[in-house]
Amino acid sequence: MSKTVLITGASRGIGAAIAKAFAQKGVHTIINCSDSRQEARELAENIRKQGGDSEVLLADVSDSAAVDLMFSRAERMFGGVDILVNNAGIAQSGLLADLTDDEWNHLIGVNLTGVFKCCRRALPYMLRRHSGRIINISSMWGQTGASCEAAYSASKAGVIGLTKALAKEVGLSGITVNCIAPGVIATDMLAQYSQQDLEALAKETPVGRIGTPKDIARAVLFLAEESSSFITGQILGVNGGFVV
Ligand code: NAP
Repeated sequence: MSKTVLITGASRGIGAAIAKAFAQKGVHTIINCSDSRQEARELAENIRKQGGDSEVLLADVSDSAAVDLMFSRAERMFGGVDILVNNAGIAQSGLLADLTDDEWNHLIGVNLTGVFKCCRRALPYMLRRHSGRIINISSMWGQTGASCEAAYSASKAGVIGLTKALAKEVGLSGITVNCIAPGVIATDMLAQYSQQDLEALAKETPVGRIGTPKDIARAVLFLAEESSSFITGQILGVNGGFVV
């Protein structure tokens, strides 16, 4: 029986590359996002044209009721979610002293609480099956901290802590929980950087380039494999050597 993957924040960027990579492997692919309905539908359609099986389920991952509905629909469509990739994320930069409560709560709500809510909803099915893969997308800034990105760095550090704790909690239940900490990856999230900034970041990266969404998708596929069952609680840096 074919497996099902649910990827949050998969309408574009890293999530979309992950969706395409799973679909190419014959995995039922559920594309989630909160607002970019059209982009997500076009991606699902492209996957189907290439012979893959893909559906779009909209939900704001910070909203418990929406997350519950999304998983219920996934269960009706495909039986359940075997692989969960918590990728949805937002970024914000600015001085910590200027951050409002609402901005802080919104960012933590999506980037960290969203991961908790999706894991909580995904786990009962995985526990019943004694099998499952959870892959969380953190960031190298969650490992090192980024200047003027305190909320983002805190949210991504939180994802690392959640990954390690949950891996220990469900290890005996056949479920692995791992984390990828990407470096600088060319997506819309970098819109705030100028061309000059990007060139400087590429220069600062030991392999001499910034990453692509495919670089992350390949690492996610590896962690999702059956044969990766002895890898859990790990933080895999996919950053061109930026953080070693
Ligand atoms: P992106 O191009 O901005 O895509 C973000 C995705 O998340 C979109 O599909 C967006 O869809 C979705 N999303 C945002 N808020 C959501 C919510 N509340 N509920 C559900 N979906 C939501 O970003 P990206 O660069 O691909 O980033 C993907 C992940 O990688 C993020 O967690 C990011 O923090 C992490 N990351 C990125 C980089 C980088 O350099 N690009 C580096 C390290 C880590 P909607 O438009 O519908 O909201």
